[in-house]
Amino acid sequence: MRETMTGTMTGTMTETKTETRTVTKTGTTKLDARIPAGPIEQAWDTARFEMKLVNPANKRRHTLLVVGSGLAGASASATLGELGYNVKCFCFQDSPRRAHSIAAQGGINAAKNYQNDGDSIYRLFYDTVKGGDFRAREANVYRLAQNSVHIIDQCVAQGVPFAREYGGSLENRSFGGAQVSRTFYARGQTGQQLLLGAYQALERQVDTGQVTMLPRTEMLDLIVIDGQARGIVARNLVTGKLSVHMGDAVILATGGYGNVYYLSTNAKGSNATAIWRAHRRGALFANPCFTQIHPTCIPVSGDYQSKLTLMSESLRNDGRIWVPKQKGDKRRPDEIPEGERDYYLERKYPAFGNLVPRDVASRNAKAVCDEGRGVGETGLGVYLDFAESIGRLGVETIRERYGNLFDMYQRITDEDPYKVPMRIYPAIHYTMGGLWVDYQLQSTIPGLFVLGEANFSDHGANRLGASALMQGLSDGYFIIPYTVGNYLAGTKRKAVTASDPEAQAALASTREGIAKLLAIKGTRTVDSFHRELGKIVWDECGMSRNAAGLRDAIGRIRALREEFWQNVTVPGSGDDLNQSLEKAGRVADFFELGELMCIDALERNESCGGHFREEYQTPEGEAQRDDEHYSYVAAWGYTGAGNKPELTKEPLEFSYVHPSQRSYK
Ligand SMILES: Cc1cc2nc3c(=O)[nH]c(=O)nc-3n(C[C@H](O)[C@H](O)[C@H](O)COP(=O)(O)OP(=O)(O)OC[C@H]3O[C@@H](n4cnc5c(N)ncnc54)[C@H](O)[C@@H]3O)c2cc1C
Repeated sequence: MRETMTGTMTGTMTETKTETRTVTKTGTTKLDARIPAGPIEQAWDTARFEMKLVNPANKRRHTLLVVGSGLAGASASATLGELGYNVKCFCFQDSPRRAHSIAAQGGINAAKNYQNDGDSIYRLFYDTVKGGDFRAREANVYRLAQNSVHIIDQCVAQGVPFAREYGGSLENRSFGGAQVSRTFYARGQTGQQLLLGAYQALERQVDTGQVTMLPRTEMLDLIVIDGQARGIVARNLVTGKLSVHMGDAVILATGGYGNVYYLSTNAKGSNATAIWRAHRRGALFANPCFTQIHPTCIPVSGDYQSKLTLMSESLRNDGRIWVPKQKGDKRRPDEIPEGERDYYLERKYPAFGNLVPRDVASRNAKAVCDEGRGVGETGLGVYLDFAESIGRLGVETIRERYGNLFDMYQRITDEDPYKVPMRIYPAIHYTMGGLWVDYQLQSTIPGLFVLGEANFSDHGANRLGASALMQGLSDGYFIIPYTVGNYLAGTKRKAVTASDPEAQAALASTREGIAKLLAIKGTRTVDSFHRELGKIVWDECGMSRNAAGLRDAIGRIRALREEFWQNVTVPGSGDDLNQSLEKAGRVADFFELGELMCIDALERNESCGGHFREEYQTPEGEAQRDDEHYSYVAAWGYTGAGNKPELTKEPLEFSYVHPSQRSYK
């Protein structure tokens, strides 16, 4: 790996500076995160004051392309439309309401301190920096905590039906990694309700003509002109028609890349193509190996399974996690007496118990299963038991809190969780890595902004539960409206059209890419390649990693990618609805991304958060960071498939939360 830079993330934000990546005379690249100087509490206020504004009458002269209509994209499109910009919003589903965000169950964090239990903006900031194992940018996280309180007000004003207490006030529950109750929720459907709120705001703008919605339209390339993001190439998934869309800035809100693992809790359609194609056009990709394994998923049941189902983390509020003390104990759970059960999280982490963060809970589940104490037919499962809380609170209270999750579990497993403990096992759930962005959410390509799970985000090496929805909405409702305006007002852009050579070249290369996939006419299905790729990445770059396994994985992924380009079969044509073709393009990108994840994981010789390198652990088996050498964001540049990517480092500085060994004991 060629390391080309050590960079700086400080530096005062200037009003018109839009280049975040510069190459020095010696050839080293520098990243400038454009973090405002001064106290962290005032950073966002300072930034907003210093940012240039677009005159209201001029806003309608600008066209913004927003790719994605999940929580991040819908909130951004609605807000930008409301401000008077012309917005084109794209999604591959038939309706923005079907974005993956709809699947979010458990809740959304906010430092409202309604419970009066000691919460504050500072505490949410602190918990998030610590929970992310000190691999996130402090200033971003602080702003996220500040915005969290506005999000709840915004959503309540939209009519989002958050759970309420008997007296009518908004209710909160606690989530992993926090000792306060700051999670707002709408039963087990928080994402759906929040998305409906954002969707209504979006549709209002569609109705006024300010936003044009293009569903069933997939972005396949980014158009860069004079170094600025000026458009996209998209394919209508129903007719197959390719089109070029030009604008003043491009905003990607295209979600995470967890489906690189094939089996994941993400919606089946979630993919990395938009961010990957932007990466190929020059946007740096940050911390790709930081992926999150969620501890409470329904265990894999067989080889033909194509999807994993999450049981919300909220269940850990009332469910107790245990396995038998004895190895290979095959008795039914009700036959195992209390004294022969190991409530291992409560035993090892008495302060946080079952509410330790996800990375800690997942690793511990793997450890007890590796010891031969796992439950269920495969031995890859642990119990999540509600007997005690049903006894204490009554079945009705539990039904009220988690009824829809219990029903879902019963439909999938045919077991009644009111009577027998749920069986759960960790699964891939979220990706902290993504396109590198500065404080203004701009990537290394001026005019290309990235929001929500698609950016490398504010979560460092491990995201705390209920913080993704918070981040997506903070980005969409409260950050991009300012920062995109600053960009538009502060940069010169020439007039562009779809006939410009760069646009036509991107269109032609997209067409060629599709033709190439259709022409292979091999013998293996796209899914069979995806499944094999996913297994390699899961085995070697999943819950735990080591150098030998990662090296092996890189070789195997390269070989499989070569076979893919020789032997994949994509039936049908490019001129109409063709789901195999859609998948083939996405899997081709997953091959390159999967390899980069392994390269990143191999380069990071430490354990932190969800990145657990077996070689680097404390005597107690916890993640052992190496702050001296690895306290940076790893931002990778594309140099061609199979070539060594270029590493650029953004050093992380901690002035407020001092890095320490995380302890949840
Ligand atoms: C099962 C599950 C439960 C979860 N529960 C919670 C929770 O309780 N709390 C929490 O905080 N987080 C939760 N998360 C995480 C959270 O749901 C996601 O991180 C978040 O919703 C992502 O939102 P987003 O707007 O960034 O992307 P998404 O909602 O994934 O939206 C992506 C959008 O981009 C579009 N798109 C993608 N690629 C293209 C392309 N090439 N062209 C055109 N359009 C494209 C899609 O059509 C879609 O509209 C959960 C995740 C899962 C998997």
